[in-house]
Amino acid sequence: MFEKILIANRGEIALRIQRACRTMGIKTVAVHSEADAEAKYVKLADESVCIGPAASAQSYLNIPAIISAAEVTDAEAIHPGYGFLSENADFAERVEKSGFFFIGPRPDTIRLMGDKVSAKNAMLQAGVPCVPGSGGALPESLDEVKEIVKEIGYPVIIKAAGGGGGRGMRVVHTEAALSNAVITTRNEAQAAFGNPVVYAEKYLENPRHIEFQVLADEYGNVVHLGERDCSMQRRHQKILEEAPARGIPVQLRDEVGERCVEACKRINYRGVGTFEFLYENNEFYFIEMNTRLQVEHPVTEAITGIDLVEAQIRVAAGEKLSLQQKDIVFKGHAIECRINAEDPYKLTPSAGRITQYHAPGGPGIRVDSHIYHNYRVPPYYDSMIAKVIAYGDDRDLAVARMRIALTEMIIDGIKTNIPLHLDLLADCNFLSDSVSIHYLENKLSLHNKKSG
Ligand code: ADP
Repeated sequence: MFEKILIANRGEIALRIQRACRTMGIKTVAVHSEADAEAKYVKLADESVCIGPAASAQSYLNIPAIISAAEVTDAEAIHPGYGFLSENADFAERVEKSGFFFIGPRPDTIRLMGDKVSAKNAMLQAGVPCVPGSGGALPESLDEVKEIVKEIGYPVIIKAAGGGGGRGMRVVHTEAALSNAVITTRNEAQAAFGNPVVYAEKYLENPRHIEFQVLADEYGNVVHLGERDCSMQRRHQKILEEAPARGIPVQLRDEVGERCVEACKRINYRGVGTFEFLYENNEFYFIEMNTRLQVEHPVTEAITGIDLVEAQIRVAAGEKLSLQQKDIVFKGHAIECRINAEDPYKLTPSAGRITQYHAPGGPGIRVDSHIYHNYRVPPYYDSMIAKVIAYGDDRDLAVARMRIALTEMIIDGIKTNIPLHLDLLADCNFLSDSVSIHYLENKLSLHNKKSG
């Protein structure tokens, strides 16, 4: 096993990884920007290195600075967390070429699955059902694009092959709007991801977002850890996730899980990963694979009892998977609420000093967060400041525990989306049924109309 791991990330996930390392007796190196010098995970790490100024491009995305930090601290492996460099194949390659272990898949796999067009092709070959679409990059000629899209049928969604984080997507309802949407998405994709390739997919009107967690070792042993429902989204970004997803026939779940496992074997996958699907009318449609740890991994940990970060580190170090599919048993229900520093309904970010903080607790409650009393939420990064996970024998108990936890939780000095979560936890549609990916957007716009 590794003796020392460098964690190339910040916030709650830096702390989460550090905790896994500590339980395994592994020393940790925190890298941080000047803006995060006082952060809790920086103080708690065995060593820390400042890698640049506040702007991510000069710190958390600064590959040479991160590699030198690993060199000077004698770390053996680098954990990229999520976001930042976690799905950057060039980074993974540089890490390995510099003599360190990358805690993630092989660079080639990241490259293959990081391009959504090649990912979809790989999945189709593995027999994984995909959203019908252009079957590859859209051509330059807008006349040809029109023909292709006519074939798919409106509405369609134009997506950037290199897109991520809910960016680089545009829904098109009519042919009149098509050319403009393609050109704008292409330009945005070039600027944001350095890759102008776009493709078209049928826009599903009422799907749920359901994803499968997988875990694979170096030697072709792969298991799936069931599914999560992440339909509660705003701006294509998840805010509340749960496991298991309601109402999925067990046989269908096993079948899709098994196909994800097969796909992993075909692409020689290593590490933890997530297959994201849209689910509509009892059918699953693959949209993309995330080749890293997900924000919402704790709900899977809660219902399987498996520490995914520990498992991820073990397979990265070359250990054989000790689990077989039959060992994985799903028990109970878990919900995660992402607590963001933002206006709950307008969604505008709200950085600043936390003047009072009280974390919730009690049976079945887990809080993953780096914040504390007097912590200053910096304006430079993602707005997520905490995750609250509630577990219960069944969904009703998990919901009840979450409601109590969020009522207890106090974060003063900045705005958070706790009121929105409490609103959702009392929403009769959310409570009685499974909702589609558009549910929250519609609810927000209704609320904002009402309050003017
Ligand atoms: P990203 O990599 O940016 O997360 P995804 O491809 O995973 O992008 O899509 C993010 C979200 O966008 C999905 O969870 C879903 O809400 C919406 N979306 C993506 N593709 C479609 C589609 N074909 N039809 C309807 N909604 C879609």
